[in-house]
Amino acid sequence: MAGPVGSVGDSRAKSAATKMKLLFIGPPGAGKGTQAGNVAGRLGIPHISTGEMFRDHVERGTDLGKRVEAIMAAGDYVPDEVTVAMLNERVAADDARDGFILDGFPRTEAQVESLDRLLGDQGLDEVVVLDVDEDTLTERLLTRGRADDNEETIRNRFKVYLEQTQPLIDLYDERGLTVHVDGNGDVEEVTERILGILVDRP
Ligand code: ADP
Repeated sequence: MAGPVGSVGDSRAKSAATKMKLLFIGPPGAGKGTQAGNVAGRLGIPHISTGEMFRDHVERGTDLGKRVEAIMAAGDYVPDEVTVAMLNERVAADDARDGFILDGFPRTEAQVESLDRLLGDQGLDEVVVLDVDEDTLTERLLTRGRADDNEETIRNRFKVYLEQTQPLIDLYDERGLTVHVDGNGDVEEVTERILGILVDRP
C-alpha cells in the first residue's frame, strides 16, 4: 500500500534508507511487528523478526520449533545462543546486505554484544523506540489472540521485558542512536510518524 505520502515520499524514504540498519524496540504490544513491517515495506529493506521466525519454526514443527514452543508459550526468552545463531544466519542473507529492520532482537545484553560483533564498526544506524501507554499495551495484546497472548503469559512477558530488554534502551540512548516515537494512535498514523522522523534525520 502506498499510503498518504505517495510515490514522491516513498522514493525520498527509499534513498534515505539506503544501507539503513534499524532496530525497532518497545514493550510487548507496542506495535513493533506491525510498524517494522510497514516501514520495511516502504523503505524496501527486509523486516527481520525473531519472534516471527520462531513462530514459523513452531508451525512447521522443525527441531528448533519443538525446542522453543513451550518457552514462547510461557512468555520467557529463548536462550541467547539459539536466538543468536538464527539471527546471524538471517542477517548474512543476500537481501539484508543493503540494510534491514530488526524487530525483537536484541532483547538481552548478551544479544547486544553479539550484534555489535556481527555488525562491526559501523553498527546500527538508528534505534526506533515505540512508546505506548500501558493500558493500550494490555488491551492490544488481549484482543490480538496470539497463542502467547493470554493474561498469565502477558504478565510474564512484561516482567521479562522490564528486567532484560528495557535497560537496552538506555544503552542505545547513551550511544546517541535512539529516536523515541509516540506509538499511540492509528497504525497508519504511527507509520507516517516513524517515516517522517527517519527521512528528516541527516
Ligand atoms: P512481542 O513483540 O509481542 O513481544 P515477538 O513476536 O517479538 O513478540 O516474540 C515472541 C516470543 O518469541 C518472545 O516472547 C520470546 O519467547 C521469543 N523471542 C523473540 N525474539 C527473541 C529474542 N531476541 N530473544 C529471546 N527470545 C525471543
